[in-house]
Amino acid sequence: MIAGLKRNRLKEVKRIVIKIGTTSLTYENGHVNLKRIRKLTEIICDLMNMDKEVILVSSGAIGIGVDKLQLPGRPQTVSGKQAVAAVGQLMLMNIYERFFSELSQNVAQILLTKDVTEGAETRQNVINTFNELLKMRVIPIVNENDSVSVDEIKFGDNDFLSYIVATITGSDLLIILTDIDGFYDKNPRDYNDAILMHNITDLSEKIEEAAGGSDSELGTGGMLTKVHASRLAAEKGVAAVICNGEDPAIIYDILDGKDVGTMFIPED
Ligand code: ADP
Repeated sequence: MIAGLKRNRLKEVKRIVIKIGTTSLTYENGHVNLKRIRKLTEIICDLMNMDKEVILVSSGAIGIGVDKLQLPGRPQTVSGKQAVAAVGQLMLMNIYERFFSELSQNVAQILLTKDVTEGAETRQNVINTFNELLKMRVIPIVNENDSVSVDEIKFGDNDFLSYIVATITGSDLLIILTDIDGFYDKNPRDYNDAILMHNITDLSEKIEEAAGGSDSELGTGGMLTKVHASRLAAEKGVAAVICNGEDPAIIYDILDGKDVGTMFIPED
């Protein structure tokens, strides 16, 4: 972690967690957005070439499973969701493996449940695994272990998971890619005059009041889980940026210190 990280110093970051949501991985019709995933993988490889260490937290297992199995929608039952996630996760990793291997970049899959990151010993094991992978220049691709997660051991949403991963790995920056430009003072899908907030220094819980749920069929947590995760990350000293993943090249803009997305600035 780098103390007092502001926009103009983001180029200094070394370890970055990038979280991508289902709505950014798929088209509105539910099919996989291969073009975008390819671009994201290329940029992540480029960041590795710049000697950054990247951890990717990827959603999409259920959404992609629904599409692969040609189901009419997300299953309603827990077991239905878990079964579909098991199918979708494999396809998702297959896509990542293919794109990354085209650039000779090794990747690894880490599936987590909350209990693993809470127990001191199991958490340390997970941290060691991340460190070992990054030492070998392997990109860890993380998701919740949806197929075995029940309420008691669930992170609940991947925004929260990405915050946990960013903090336990001592990352410098968390980037949450979503389907909107950042965090507005009210939901811009409901209000035309909503204003994008670029920099947030007030890390108190009341900032979450402006964040609503998802308006998309595929999105799960909406802005609320992103703001919650980013706020907690910044509180723990990890800078966090919520931004639009439509063009993953926005990651370069963030590192260049441009005023894109919403940055949650850790205290000095
Ligand atoms: P993802 O699949 O990337 O996790 P979500 O659809 O779950 O994305 O969350 C992003 C959505 O949150 C936005 O598209 C928007 O509809 C909704 N939203 C609610 N309140 C806000 C807000 N204050 N600012 C921005 N987006 C908001």
